[in-house]
Amino acid sequence: MLYYSTNLQAQPVTFREALLKGLAPDRGLFMPRELPTISAEELRRFSDLDYADIAFEVTRKFLYTEMAESDLLAIVKDAYTFLIPLEPVYERKYVMRLDQGPTASFKDFAARMMGRLMQYFLRQEERNLLILTATSGDTGSAIANAFYGLENIKVVVLYPEHEVTERQRKQMTTLAKNIQIIAINGKFDDCQALVKRAFADPELASLPLSSANSINIGRLLPQMLYYVYAYAKLRHTAEDEQIIFSVPSGNFGNLMGGLLAKHIGLPVKKFVVATNENDEFPVFLATGDYEKIVPSRNCISSAMNVGHPSNVARLIALYGGNMDETGQIHQKPDFDRLRKDIYAVSISDAETQETIKQVYTDHHLLLEPHGAVAWAGLSHYFNAFPQDAAAEQMCVAIETAHPAKFPVEIRQILGFDPELPPSLEGLEEKPEFFVTLPNSYTAFRQFLQEHY
Ligand SMILES: *Cc1c(COP(=O)(O)O)cnc(C)c1O
Repeated sequence: MLYYSTNLQAQPVTFREALLKGLAPDRGLFMPRELPTISAEELRRFSDLDYADIAFEVTRKFLYTEMAESDLLAIVKDAYTFLIPLEPVYERKYVMRLDQGPTASFKDFAARMMGRLMQYFLRQEERNLLILTATSGDTGSAIANAFYGLENIKVVVLYPEHEVTERQRKQMTTLAKNIQIIAINGKFDDCQALVKRAFADPELASLPLSSANSINIGRLLPQMLYYVYAYAKLRHTAEDEQIIFSVPSGNFGNLMGGLLAKHIGLPVKKFVVATNENDEFPVFLATGDYEKIVPSRNCISSAMNVGHPSNVARLIALYGGNMDETGQIHQKPDFDRLRKDIYAVSISDAETQETIKQVYTDHHLLLEPHGAVAWAGLSHYFNAFPQDAAAEQMCVAIETAHPAKFPVEIRQILGFDPELPPSLEGLEEKPEFFVTLPNSYTAFRQFLQEHY
């Protein structure tokens, strides 16, 4: 099974190569050339399996040519040791909480599996990697935690100095060891641009650079799994039901995982793609014209403040189109098929806040800003397609972070402090280690050359 580059100018590679490279040499993103399938019988059987076993059954369809099944099983069992609550809200409408991992964000799902897969292949090859990653808050801590203490991987995380919460920062800066954190005096998009430039810089060719951003295919495979899990656990097995997911989207890695799950056979009726005020994708779906938002807009769902989502090139490729890394479209995707599978909506900060208040009041369920964007997106979808609001229609809105990661917003909206999950306790007292750099590529390159 091989992976091609969305820019179509690079040789197809194995999963191992795609995982360890991150970005393709032509600056495109790796995508599976063909997709395996899950049959209806298999899906029915999944209803009796736990998360790690479902993860194994799905990922081995992609990885069986490259690793022993017993090694893969050991990796998923080691990566997925926490709960995935599917909280009923009303009728068959659920919130899936992907916030029970070690850094209390859904990024743990991808980072933990990707880190273990990288480690597995690097050990075999006896080589090292230097992971460069840009974060708007949650990727950095998930990657830093998932890779912390590994001997053949060093990690450099860039974050926008003023765009992450104190708690998000402390989840990264209190680690040290093989983890270097850099505060950039700029926005998330600036951090992402610095990382991308480093990858393309011939002067850094001697460094074994790789990425852990959602441009890495190693993030996408694990992000298919909770969609399959939710369906397997919520369906009535006697029927071939369809499910609707609402996905709070920033760089569209989460959505790409869901789309891949659908394309291998998961019966998803619709993906509601809910963005914050960075509405480039909803506009694109409505008009056919793609325009990046530069600079990205600051919203309270800060992990989704992305004006040019990196995975849109993959999404367009999956629907027969072609977009390069600058956001230029060379071949339009099949819009009819896209619009059949996806409903996209932009949610304002005011509506996000109102949703947190309303869901808490009506259903005693505490959402944080990203999950609230997903829930609000689902409401918009029900207004547009009332038949899908029917009591028997399964719908799952994805909660991507724990409310305790956003205490300031929650306090402002609801007047109390969310309770800390055990994974976030004790951060306040720990010392922090990080450096601050200006938003300058020269400064960043110099730092890398001096330290690695
Ligand atoms: C990263 C993140 C998102 C956006 O996910 P994408 O895969 O980038 O679309 C949403 N919510 C939270 C809490 C995140 O950390």
